[in-house]
Amino acid sequence: MTMKMKLKLKNVFMLYFLVSVCGLMYALMQLGQPCDCTLHSRQSSDLVHSRDRTISRLQGELKRLQARGNPEEPPKPALPTIYTVTPTYTRLVQKAELTRLSQTLLHVPSLHWVVVEDSPVKTSLVSELLKRSGLRYTHLCTQTPKDFKLQEGDPNWLKPRGVEQRNLALQWLRENRGPSDEGVVYFADDDNTYSLRLFEEMRFTKRVSVWPVGLVGGVRFERPLVERGQVTGFYTAWKPNRPFPMDMAGFAVSLPLLLANPAARFHLSAQRGNLESSLLQALVSIEELEPRASNCTKVLVWHTRTEKPKMKQEDALLLKGLGSDPSVEV
Ligand code: UDP
Ligand code: MN
Repeated sequence: MTMKMKLKLKNVFMLYFLVSVCGLMYALMQLGQPCDCTLHSRQSSDLVHSRDRTISRLQGELKRLQARGNPEEPPKPALPTIYTVTPTYTRLVQKAELTRLSQTLLHVPSLHWVVVEDSPVKTSLVSELLKRSGLRYTHLCTQTPKDFKLQEGDPNWLKPRGVEQRNLALQWLRENRGPSDEGVVYFADDDNTYSLRLFEEMRFTKRVSVWPVGLVGGVRFERPLVERGQVTGFYTAWKPNRPFPMDMAGFAVSLPLLLANPAARFHLSAQRGNLESSLLQALVSIEELEPRASNCTKVLVWHTRTEKPKMKQEDALLLKGLGSDPSVEV
């Protein structure tokens, strides 16, 4: 009996010993084995993403609250609006010019783009471009009278360009803005090159502010000459005896001054080179001009002109039956 019990107990110990050894060996084999962690890492990356989302939501809310300002501080006065007037007309490079200009203007705070097409109707090209631009804008049109319009092959200086378009913008401002509106009006042709710094120079114009213009009048720059903070003359080679020998891109006019002088406008009949003078003579004297851009020593706008593209190969493609593809937006 006791012998039998002893045997059984021995078996139980043996079994226990074997199971323990097997368990130990299994545990040792698992050490250093790669484990299937994808589920685990997916769960933790979900956690990180949702935390990122929360952070960016809170950052957005913080920005909105900061923009609203501290209610205990007085609100910052709004910047005077820069009404940028651009005459424009249909030609191959128009969309390229307006794209470049609109993307410059996007960087300027408190700006209103007044685009005036030289055409009897507003074109869909300009309408669409303006809609997509992200800018505050007004879209107008008026066609230059036929006798004053440049004809194919005419040299560009033969007739003034963009005159009635700029005048229509002045009319729109007079009809849609009043004495309480702060602002400045700048005539920005669609093909020039503008530094962003220029817009901050003109922002607080009292009457008419002026600065140099690069690559114009056959010289590297033209500029007002300044002595003791006052304009005393002009550095220009071409027709220096003009009343205001300045390019359109070289001055800005305060909105209140334009509203106070309802007859001031550009004259279609102005002599060559005197278009700027035809407006400015009705507004200021030379002594009243406000020099900007470090006393007119910095060029911040260039009278660049875009070469007319030669479409020499279009006819050859047409002859081959490869007329331009109407599904391509140019
Ligand atoms: N312009 C216009 N109609 C025309 C020719 C020009 O509205 O028939 C516009 C043009 O888009 C530009 C401005 O008038 O914004 C001045 O024209 P351009 O750049 O040809 O003149 P320039 O550089 O020779 O002074
Ligand atoms: Mn030009």
